[in-house]
Amino acid sequence: MTLCELSLALPGRLLPWYGSHARDLPWRQDRQPYHILLSEIMLQQTRVEAVRAYYLRFLDRLPTIEALAEADEQTLLKLWEGLGYYSRVRNLQKAARAIVAAGGFPTSREGLLALPGVGAYTAGAVGSICFDLPTPAVDGNVLRVMTRLAAIDTPITSAALRREITAALAAAYPAGRCGTFTQALMELGATVCGPGGAPACALCPVADLCACADGRWKDIPVRPAKKARRREEYTVLILCCGETIALQKRPDTGLLAGLWELPNRPGRLDAQGAMDWAVSLGVQPQRLLRQLTRRHIFTHVEWQLHGYEFLCGQAAPPLQWQPACEAALPTAFRILLDRDDD
Ligand code: SF4
Repeated sequence: MTLCELSLALPGRLLPWYGSHARDLPWRQDRQPYHILLSEIMLQQTRVEAVRAYYLRFLDRLPTIEALAEADEQTLLKLWEGLGYYSRVRNLQKAARAIVAAGGFPTSREGLLALPGVGAYTAGAVGSICFDLPTPAVDGNVLRVMTRLAAIDTPITSAALRREITAALAAAYPAGRCGTFTQALMELGATVCGPGGAPACALCPVADLCACADGRWKDIPVRPAKKARRREEYTVLILCCGETIALQKRPDTGLLAGLWELPNRPGRLDAQGAMDWAVSLGVQPQRLLRQLTRRHIFTHVEWQLHGYEFLCGQAAPPLQWQPACEAALPTAFRILLDRDDD
């Protein structure tokens, strides 16, 4: 079957299947655009199980788009702490402000695409789920399902392939059930034809249409070889004074832009070098409490962090001293405060 023929056959199979197999997820309780937009932004690069608690906590604290538009930055960053990719929440707030200023959510694909941080996938998801538009939300899950169904061996990163699949699906969207079709496709890619290990072809509602049900799924989708991650090494100071730790702000551009961080510098110092450096920052380290090494992996870079925790006599400027539990620290630094696995 061609991609178009397959796409046209999908609603008839997937809608009934989804009706009886959909997972009960907090963002599926309603179709409010704020809720769907928030969940889709959170779900980018993050697993469903990890998002669940973040989503509920975020809405508990900021229940409306107006509350999000007015929230202060520290509140936002704290609510996002641990999810990573902090530009997502900053853009989400910019989008909220644009929506409030316009008097409501845009209801067209073009209007959604004009919001900060909203790309084709998110516009497709919000457009179809909230406004019943025939706008496919083509992410890695949907690409995997569609390339397997049609046994397409074009690399999955191809923009032309994504356009072709989007167009084929758009033509198949069932009027009045666009949102359910989007969610059904997502669900199939997340639960039956998943990214890791063997797909559950025996449970798949479209197995008889699929060109890969015979085992060809092992070769599809085709992924270009990944570039090796860059490795960087840092010495990090954990300076403690009473209940507070010393923090500083990261630069406004680049990785983790504008977030709080522990004082750090490239390279690996020994304990004496770290103490000398702390003194040069204006603090008075009294005693080395801990020495530890942690690794943190970003998409394109891996950090090797050598931490030195010092007890300090005085919470001196110019470093900012904050209670460790209150600071909105990205996970890359938060792992150095974790005592569970010393
Ligand atoms: S039959 Fe198997 S490979 Fe094909 S779409 Fe279903 S789960 Fe994926």
